Amino acid sequence: MVKGKTVLVTGSTSGIGRGIAEAFAMEGANIVLNGFGDSEEIDQLKQDLAARHGMKVGYEGADLMDTAAIEEMMRNIEADFGGVDILVNNAGIQHVDSLEDFPADKWDAVISLNLSSVFHTTRLALPYMRTQGWGRIINIASAHGLVASEKKSAYVAAKHGVVGLTKVTALETANSGITCNAICPGWVLTPLVQKQVDAIAENQGVELEEAKKILLSEKMPLHQFVTVEQLGAMALFLCSPAADTMTGTPVTMDGGWTAR
Ligand code: NAD
Repeated sequence: MVKGKTVLVTGSTSGIGRGIAEAFAMEGANIVLNGFGDSEEIDQLKQDLAARHGMKVGYEGADLMDTAAIEEMMRNIEADFGGVDILVNNAGIQHVDSLEDFPADKWDAVISLNLSSVFHTTRLALPYMRTQGWGRIINIASAHGLVASEKKSAYVAAKHGVVGLTKVTALETANSGITCNAICPGWVLTPLVQKQVDAIAENQGVELEEAKKILLSEKMPLHQFVTVEQLGAMALFLCSPAADTMTGTPVTMDGGWTAR
């Protein structure tokens, strides 16, 4: 199904992106990793994926807040792999502060990575997908792409923007063999969320396990973290023939968060 296709997963040196890269690697897709981290660990991850699954693995360390770096990354992938068949826009950051206290540079950073980079990778990936008559764009949005929480103005604005951009991309690619959907997860226990668990533990003077329960019960009727394996399986499903008529859709995997 995805065997031999090239998948770019942004922000795949950690968390959800890493899990999604693993899921595609297991199905024999070639993977281009992206994200920050220790260069030895990234080399190890590349070697490990290639050794376990026997596919081609690349790494592009582009800072996705830099448009020129995104353009260079996409040129490199075209030279090394031909182009991107499946684009998973996953890289993202969070900053938590009330509107009055929200530093302007943090706003710019969150919008730049969580929203603008999705626009740039998408516009640059589309020409190759059109020549192939097939392509999949999967945007990792969030429950915060559909509903809001206090103190997350930039993140909520960016993720709502990603859901909107997903719809426009779907309309502009209709009948071309390309689809674009968003996945909107609830809490996933990655480094990004661990920071919020740590903050609850510190502010409320509770143990980490208790802090996790507080975080989950605040938003998710189903008191369970979504796993990276579940997200990988959903991303694969969106690339399967069963999902050929799904486009422009925010797919929630949020334990009932947005059902309220
Ligand atoms: P994470 O912090 O574990 O991973 C983020 C990845 O993005 C890392 O690989 C990091 O190196 C990379 N990255 C950060 N800044 C970058 C930059 N400027 N350029 C390129 N790469 C950069 O986070 P995660 O929890 O795995 O989140 C991944 C995505 O899922 C994000 O878009 C996030 O908003 C979304 N999401 C997460 C949750 C959750 O509960 N963890 C829930 C809903 C949505």
